[in-house]
Amino acid sequence: MNNLQKKYKIAVLPGDGIGPEVMQEAYKIIKILNKKFNTKIYTKEYDIGGIAIDKYGKSLPKKTLVGCEKSDAILLGSIGGPKWDNLPSNKRPEVSSLLFIRKYFKFFINLRPSILINKLHNLSPLNKKISKKGFNILCIRDLTGGIYFGKPSKEVKEKNKHYAIDTTIYHTYEIKRIAKIAFEEAMNRKYKVLSIDKSNVLQTSKLWRKTVNKISINYPKVKLSHLYFDNAVMQIIKNPNKFDVILCPNLIGDIISDQCGILTGSIGMIPSASINEKKFGLYEPAGGSAPDIQGKKIANPIAQILSLSMLIKYSFNMNNLSNLINLAVKKTLLKGYKTYDISNGKKFLSTKEMGNEIVKSLIEG
Ligand code: NAD
Repeated sequence: MNNLQKKYKIAVLPGDGIGPEVMQEAYKIIKILNKKFNTKIYTKEYDIGGIAIDKYGKSLPKKTLVGCEKSDAILLGSIGGPKWDNLPSNKRPEVSSLLFIRKYFKFFINLRPSILINKLHNLSPLNKKISKKGFNILCIRDLTGGIYFGKPSKEVKEKNKHYAIDTTIYHTYEIKRIAKIAFEEAMNRKYKVLSIDKSNVLQTSKLWRKTVNKISINYPKVKLSHLYFDNAVMQIIKNPNKFDVILCPNLIGDIISDQCGILTGSIGMIPSASINEKKFGLYEPAGGSAPDIQGKKIANPIAQILSLSMLIKYSFNMNNLSNLINLAVKKTLLKGYKTYDISNGKKFLSTKEMGNEIVKSLIEG
């Protein structure tokens, strides 16, 4: 049975803020895929985040978790907002649902593409001389290791001492599995991997670099380079066009992926994928629930639509369809259609109109 004949189930979690608004536009794309490309993609919606707290008293109801378990992939909108910001930190929607889900399904890798089409270089905050070349960076970040999860992590008050401690640990198996994916991604792109670390100072970074070097031997066609974190931040700003796949430990990737994202002009266009060893994944826009624009019908649906595209590629293995969705987004932008966030205050489309234009471009092929 080929992938088009197979039935796929997506657990759709629209969440809070602009989440439900942009999710409507992703639904339109699924409808076209089923109608025009004969896919058999089924969706079922579940509550998560603030809306679930309001309805059920908890941000991740059992029904939602079970729904995710019974699905082939999860498509998330966004979670949180001012209404729930003052809850104790372990009850805040992001912590009590999103971080839990990431851990529960053992998502160990986060992939975030940041693309600036050269014809749309004026969207970027970069100097025109740099931005006019455009760029296409895939930032690959470890999600389970490093300083965010190492133990001990605590504040200590003793007799004459008051300090805090966090611990960074990396196991070679964690580095190997993410490095392999980085090289495999590069084989389908421009054959370049940049690995970022701080191996001039940190033992974990020394092991990171040594292990990435070892894995690279299996990918002779891919050019591997290394940069220290501080230098990498500068080089990416100076010439993002030079980079292809960027491979990062957890903390470094947290920062670098945001840096690459904003260089495209709007967080509203950046999708992301968090995946486990079985290619089961959670796909979501890189941005949050954007309470400042909620209900104004001006949110950019592109990040949500491209998150769906990543889902179709990584969890459903339908690369061609994913490419067609990406192409439809690119075509729509090149036709000159813009949402508020990328319009510089000039003429712009509503969320719904932008979704409709992307659907039109997808149908045109
Ligand atoms: P945010 O990403 O929601 O908003 C930052 C800025 O980006 C805002 O000006 C917003 O209008 C804009 N923006 C974001 N997405 C956009 C889109 N699709 N189209 C147009 N503009 C867009 O970050 P924030 O304001 O710091 O956080 C708001 C809430 O979201 C908080 O409660 C935060 O905890 C939560 N949050 C959730 C997630 C998630 O669900 N994964 C991620 C980050 C933040």
